[in-house]
Amino acid sequence: MQLKDLSLLKTQCLINGVWCGEPNLVVNNPSTGQEIAQVPRFGSVETKAAIEAANAALPAWRAKSGKERSQILRRWFELMMQNQEELAQIMTAEQGKPLTEARGEIAYAASFIEWFAEEAKRVYGDVMPHPQAGPRIITLKQPVGVCAAITPWNFPAAMITRKAGPALAAGCTMIVKPASQTPLTALALVALAERAGVPAGVINIVTGSAREIGAALTASPIVRKLSFTGSTEIGRELMAACAPTIKKLSLELGGNAPFIVFDDADLDAAVQGAMISKFRNAGQTCVCANRILVQAGVYDAFAAKLAVAIANLKVGDGTSESVTTGPLIDENAVAKVEEHINDALAKGAVLLAGGKRHSLGGTFFTPTLLGNVTPAMKIAREETFGPVAPLFKFTKEDEAIQMANDTVFGLASYFYTQNIARSFRVAEALECGMVGLNTGMISNEVGPFGGIKQSGLGREGSKYGVEEYLEVKYLCIAG
Ligand code: ADP
Repeated sequence: MQLKDLSLLKTQCLINGVWCGEPNLVVNNPSTGQEIAQVPRFGSVETKAAIEAANAALPAWRAKSGKERSQILRRWFELMMQNQEELAQIMTAEQGKPLTEARGEIAYAASFIEWFAEEAKRVYGDVMPHPQAGPRIITLKQPVGVCAAITPWNFPAAMITRKAGPALAAGCTMIVKPASQTPLTALALVALAERAGVPAGVINIVTGSAREIGAALTASPIVRKLSFTGSTEIGRELMAACAPTIKKLSLELGGNAPFIVFDDADLDAAVQGAMISKFRNAGQTCVCANRILVQAGVYDAFAAKLAVAIANLKVGDGTSESVTTGPLIDENAVAKVEEHINDALAKGAVLLAGGKRHSLGGTFFTPTLLGNVTPAMKIAREETFGPVAPLFKFTKEDEAIQMANDTVFGLASYFYTQNIARSFRVAEALECGMVGLNTGMISNEVGPFGGIKQSGLGREGSKYGVEEYLEVKYLCIAG
């Protein structure tokens, strides 16, 4: 498939139903280092135009029935699935993940649009008993208004649909700012939204300077909500920038997921879960197992089995069907991985597999296994965001929980045990928004995705996801 022939390869932005902008911001393929396309380098002027467009489109979109909005979203979902292969090709080209993963992400991304198409019809208020006889209390749910979404490069499609799906379902309009590394998937999705019948101005997309676009979105009093997925560092800045206008916020930020393997775990299942959680997307997911804590009795056996599984990974260009591990997104990502490995080795960790750049060059990195990792090492504190599995040893359950919670983050946790009492005890003690119990895969459109502590605010997906885009209005009715 020749990328340039794809009808969904858009190199302009959509503002108020018009494709516009001079493409001059280069998008590279991280696998080859080659330019794929250019997109506009927009800033505050174009962002303000997008905000105006979203504001102008709001009354008519909000006035539609939930069912009408649902039907349009349903068409968008169907178009995404009909174009799954083309979208996956675009994603692999700009992001690097293997095609099987890219196809999986498109299906996952589309599932949010399908889910929220269904939820659009089920936005219910309440009738409540008034404390005095006579009056009635009724609550209405109304759209928040104009919303902004700033999204990262690791899931170029799903991080948009889990925001745009509930926003549009609720009757909000939106401005999307995708990551500059992966704008092409985002532009293609918006092109499909337009084809599906999303009216002009209801969804707008601006590519370009994150700082300028971010500043324009956060400063605008018209924008009533910001939903951001990215690092805790930038999330903190955006939260502060939203303070003057008291915007609603959904923040899905960094994680430092513990993955705990107890003595009573099914070790083969734990290895399989660790591989999915750790090495999917070359370790570049916010719910990646970042610290693998293994109980002393099974530590050696688990390490040996994990090393075998890691040896079976195949690093390479994502378009080759046998490849399991693509390149990292850029040179900075490789530098961080190297820094974490070197710091750990200097402080006494042992290298059990990998540990260096891959012979393919570029940003390819060899899947790595480190043993004897301790909390004193950088890798224990910071999100690695790369294909490095660090093993920590513990003896008692309490110690594992203490180690697991010893972080400012609180996104995902995983643990493996066959003991039911321990299952509940540990799940309740872990400080995080999501727990994978005997599974390494927790993401789907039905479960509420989100974190606590410095991993963020709010939930995406699930029956809670649409609430983030709704305000409750209370009517006190007397007489
Ligand atoms: P990552 O480490 O995943 O690249 P970032 O938090 O740096 O995470 O980036 C996530 C998203 O936030 C991207 O779309 C990026 O363009 C955007 N971004 C980065 N810096 C800013 C900023 N100062 N203001 C607004 N958006 C930003």
